[in-house]
Formats: sequence, structure tokens, C-alpha cells
Amino acid sequence: MRSARPLRTMKFGGTSVGNAECVGRVAALVADEAAGAEVVVVVSAMGGVTDMLIRAATEASRGDREDWKGARQELARRHREVADTLLYAGEQAQVLPRLAEEIGNFENLCSGFSLVREITPRGMDALSSLGEKMSALLVAAALRSKGCAAEAVDATELIVTDDHFGNASPHFDETAVRTRDRLAPLRRRGLIPVVTGFRGATREGVCTTLGRGGSDYSATLIGAALESDEVWIWTDVDGVMTADPRLVPAAHIVPEISYREAAELAFFGAKVLHPKTIQPVLKRQIPVWIKNTFNPSCPGTRIGAAPAGARPGVKALTTVSKADLITVSGRDRLSFAELAARVFQSLSRDDIPTLMVTQSSADNVLCFAVHDADLLHVRSALEKAFELEILHDYIAPPEVVPQVAIVVLVGENMKGTPGISGRAFGALGRRDINIIAIAQGSSELSISLAVNAGQVKEAVTAIHEEFEL
Ligand code: ADP
Ligand code: ASP
Ligand code: MG
Repeated sequence: MRSARPLRTMKFGGTSVGNAECVGRVAALVADEAAGAEVVVVVSAMGGVTDMLIRAATEASRGDREDWKGARQELARRHREVADTLLYAGEQAQVLPRLAEEIGNFENLCSGFSLVREITPRGMDALSSLGEKMSALLVAAALRSKGCAAEAVDATELIVTDDHFGNASPHFDETAVRTRDRLAPLRRRGLIPVVTGFRGATREGVCTTLGRGGSDYSATLIGAALESDEVWIWTDVDGVMTADPRLVPAAHIVPEISYREAAELAFFGAKVLHPKTIQPVLKRQIPVWIKNTFNPSCPGTRIGAAPAGARPGVKALTTVSKADLITVSGRDRLSFAELAARVFQSLSRDDIPTLMVTQSSADNVLCFAVHDADLLHVRSALEKAFELEILHDYIAPPEVVPQVAIVVLVGENMKGTPGISGRAFGALGRRDINIIAIAQGSSELSISLAVNAGQVKEAVTAIHEEFEL
């Protein structure tokens, strides 16, 4: 189904819908855009709500009734305030009972967790994504109060996923069909769909989530399913910056980056994009714009095919500030190939991402970095995989260098630009920052340097200055 007007899928993040004033601003932006384009909206929960829901669930599972009652009040207060400020009486009469229903769901789930003293992964997904249901109801109602026909849609009706609760993977083709079918009648009637980010459902209809920050991914999944002309991700910064502005205040906006650069930045922790955001739009080469809700006149960053003739060299930096380096040595008992095969097989069972990998084949040593949150898991997976060898002292137990940060230099055109690693080493050496490990892929899209976690800010600032980003 195509209309003559361009189709834009627009996602608004948590800060963008953080309070009544913000929701009002979002409704005005959407109403403006809807004058010249067809718009499909995707929304996150109000800022801080997902964290609050997850905390409440954890407290409930410890049997603590009082703490989650506090969260219930806060949840009701924040959403009610938006409804009171922005909605006409008729809209309030419709929306308030639906918000109350979600708060009832929150109570039921928390009571359940507190009774059994346990959180089930599927219960957690249903609970942690309630904020998206509530914000979608409010944004749709705020649009109607401005005279724009709009309807809240639960993405459990659109996005079909596997049952990997907490970090589900979508089935792309089924998602495309369901999304088109479910939204077609709304679009025909000229209604703006306001879809919950973050949520999906299994084929059986059980609610799942796409991982923290997953609403960006929801937006590109829906954008691709509808063959949108563009996907706009509205957030609280002017676009993709040369580094995380919280670490490097001198960071500035990059007007244009390639899909591969954006995917690399997102994989290595640039919070502005969920790691899987780029995947769905690649095939149709749908451009993705990152824009600032609080500064809409700034054009933002365009993510698209690699622009011809772009300046060669480093485009942006990103960091993973909490990582660990793990070293496994096969001694002379295991061939390097066998060692590597068994290490990666044990990681792949639980889908654990490695952030960098280095090897020393002569010494039969494999070294790799993982997110600190995965460390315990990785350690026990490796100890299990090499249980017998460790028991008989054929190989040593895995060694861990904790509290490491990884600084990643990203740029499509670093390839063929000599001396980049040397300059990065020099910049760190002059500040007495020791490089614990280094990895550079043959695609030369990124160079990763592991440094002491306490020096990450200094390291990223030094490299940012060195390359005059
Ligand atoms: P939203 O709630 O809109 O999804 P997020 O907080 O998830 O927003 O992502 C935006 C934040 O990402 C920014 O406020 C910024 O602090 C952080 N960030 C980290 N790295 C970058 C980068 N390279 N460019 C822009 N923002 C970045
Ligand atoms: N609300 C979810 C989170 O905080 C999803 C998102 O904001 O993208 O992780
Ligand atoms: Mg985000």
C-alpha cells in the first residue's frame, strides 16, 4: 500500500517523551510532519520508566511489597500528569481507564513475583515493556487532542520474534507481513499509528522484548516492513557525534555516516543506536536520520550508503567502558585451531558477543574481550568446556584481566590510510596510557584498543584530539 506522499517512520526515545511538555512537543512535531508526509510513530517508555519497572520487579521477587508499591505510585503519577496536562476531558475519559489497566497489570505481575520469590523471563518482558504501552496511549491521545487522527498499536501484534526473552530476535518476513496487514486499515483511514517500541511477541503471542534500547530496532523493523522512504530516530542529541558527548565534551555532530560505520559504532556501545538498528534497513537501503527533538531545526545525521569521496580516516570513536580480557592457553596440548574452535563454540551457545580477539599462535594463546556483564557466564562456560583438560592440568584455567575499557576508532575510509594505529599509539603513549591489547580487522573499518578502565576518558580524549575530530 503506497500513497503519493513520502512515508516516514519516526521513533521518539525516552527523554523525548519524558514529561508532559515533551509529549506535547512530540505531538506538535508529528502533526507538522504529517502535513507533508505519511507518518508512522514508534515510542519508547517515558525516560527512567523501564529502569523503574525492572527495579520494582527485582524488589518484588525479594518479597519486598513496600518498594514496588512506591513504583506503582510513581508510574501512575507520571502518566496521569501527562494526561491531565495535554488531553481534553473526552480523551481523558478514554485514556485514564486504559492507563489504570496497565497499572493493574503491573500490580498483578509484581504480586506474582513476590509470591513465588522469582522473576520468570517472560514475566519480566511483559512487565519491563509496560512503559511503552502507556506512552503509546498518551502520545496517540495527545495527537488526537491536537486534531490529528491517531491510534495506539501494541507491537506484539506486529513484531514476531523467537522466545529468547529479554533479547528476542525477530522473524523478518512474518514481521513484515503482520506489520503491513495490521497497519493497512489504519493507514487507509488516514490514522497515524503510534506503535510501542521495544516489544514483540512469539508466534504464540507471548510478549518478548528486543533488548535494552530496543525501540530503535523496532523503528527500523517497522520502517523496513512498510518500505518507508526514511526512518527518523528522534533523541536528545543533535545526531551521531564524533564520540560520546558525556565522555568528550568537544565531540561534535557527524553529518553523514555509512551503514557499516553506524553498525560498528552501535555494536561497540554508542548508546545513540541499539546494536541491531541498521540490519533491517540495509537491504532496501532506507536512509536513517538521527535528529534532536529538542533542536529540530538541526538537520541531524544521515545514515546511508557510503558517500563517495568522503574524507579518509577516523570518523568517530566509541568506547566499551566495562569489559574484561580473557586469556586461554592451550599450552602444547591443544592445537590453536582446536583451542579457538572450542572457545568460540562455548560462547556461541549463549550468543555471547566478543568485543575483540587477538592470538599468539606460537604460544598457543587466545585472548578476547567480553562485556563485564557476561564475565561470570563466560568463565563458567569455559571451565565447563575445558573441564577435563583443566583437571589434568593440560591447560591452565582461563586468566582474566578485569576492569578494562575498549576504545574503538571507526571509519569506512581508514582502509588504505597508513599510520592511523601509529598515531593512536603515539597519542596514548604521550599520556602514559598503556595499551593492553589491540585488534584491527582486515576490513579496517575499526581499530580496537584495550586500556585500563580508569583511563578511558583520558584515552578517548587523547585520540579525539590527535585526529582533530
Ligand atoms: P533515547 O532515549 O532517545 O533512545 P539514548 O539515551 O538511548 O536516547 O541515546 C542517546 C544518548 O546516547 C545521548 O544522550 C548520548 O549521551 C549517548 N551517546 C553515546 N555515544 C554517542 C555518540 N557517538 N553520538 C551521540 N550520542 C551518543
Ligand atoms: N524503554 C526501553 C529501554 O529503556 C527501550 C528503549 O528505550 O529503546 O531499554
Ligand atoms: Mg536509546
